[in-house]
Amino acid sequence: MKPYLKRAWAEVSLGQLKKNMELIKGLNSSGTEVMAVVKADAYGHGYERVCETLAEECGIRYFAVSNLDEAITVRKCCPDAEILILGYTPPEYAHEISQNNIIQGVVSTEYAAALCNSSNDTIRCHIKIDTGMGRIGLRHDKPEDCAKEIQFMCTIKGLSVEGIYTHFAVADSDDPDNVAYTDKQEKYITDTYDELVKLGIKLPHMHFMNSAATCYRNNSRSTLSRAGIIIYGLHPDVSLPVPEGLEPIMELKAVISQVKEVPEGTCISYGRTFVAPHKMKIATVTIGYADGYSRLLSSKGEILVHGHRCAIVGRVCMDQLMIDVSGVDARSGDIVTLIGKDGGEQITADELASMYGTIGYEVVCGISKRVPRIYID
Ligand SMILES: *Cc1c(COP(=O)(O)O)cnc(C)c1O
Repeated sequence: MKPYLKRAWAEVSLGQLKKNMELIKGLNSSGTEVMAVVKADAYGHGYERVCETLAEECGIRYFAVSNLDEAITVRKCCPDAEILILGYTPPEYAHEISQNNIIQGVVSTEYAAALCNSSNDTIRCHIKIDTGMGRIGLRHDKPEDCAKEIQFMCTIKGLSVEGIYTHFAVADSDDPDNVAYTDKQEKYITDTYDELVKLGIKLPHMHFMNSAATCYRNNSRSTLSRAGIIIYGLHPDVSLPVPEGLEPIMELKAVISQVKEVPEGTCISYGRTFVAPHKMKIATVTIGYADGYSRLLSSKGEILVHGHRCAIVGRVCMDQLMIDVSGVDARSGDIVTLIGKDGGEQITADELASMYGTIGYEVVCGISKRVPRIYID
């Protein structure tokens, strides 16, 4: 038996993950701990090995996920971690939340009450404040009013309020208007915290930094930095630099199944959208949109073959695609790189994303279940 099928696979470097984590820790003030955001199967990199490495080798104690199923998966890999669910959990699952010692993000007094009514256990929570993202959380014009609602929530029987948090909408932008917007969001939550202190409530946690804020506007008042995309070495925004040394930890690879010379006028792939303008050498590659390599890359994307960039010709199929390898010594069985480095060339998830109008986040999260994740040092 071979260890995995060499058709389409993702190589995840745990060594680079550790390097990225050391760099990220170095960005934080001494009072701020990293909360590793590992939602969506650790942004497509695979929970088990990523969480284990973070907990056991990087000393990470805090994790954030999007939902209860993810929280339970992370709990299995990290028995001692603090795990925060950022998104919604139906109140009828309150017992599972407490049974697994999970912290739930709470978005309103009604929601907090519903959670506590459906269980006799204590529910640990961080209260989410909507300071400008417009997604979830308490919304009040004034921090004083927000603090009053939180003060009331602290009296709900069965609710253990351990922190407050908010999420920035444009921390990944250096446009002055956006910077002012983020300043306002930050001021709102820190003012709310200070109002709570005046009311005699001193919560252990207040957090508002995501990856972008961790890179560009680190603030020691945030007890946790909820770093997501930078853990995996991608950019919060491609137009802004990330700290030197931060590198992508995933490469996506496949193999060439067949190489053929085709005469001028040969149609390639569905729809006959590509017709060879002259004699060409075409290679077929064992990856397609069912693996998460978007069909929007049809006749747009490039793939590295022996350090050369080779253009995709025609439509990306479900399981295969074709590239122009004219002038390249490409043979059946050769390994090609869809994301990653080969020779002096590199294609990043961010670069692929920009080719079809999305962000690197969606590219890595979209690599499908069919693609085995292989872990290397
Ligand atoms: C996803 C998410 C993060 C992490 O965002 P990155 O840009 O990947 O760092 C942090 N906080 C919340 C609430 C999130 O939903």
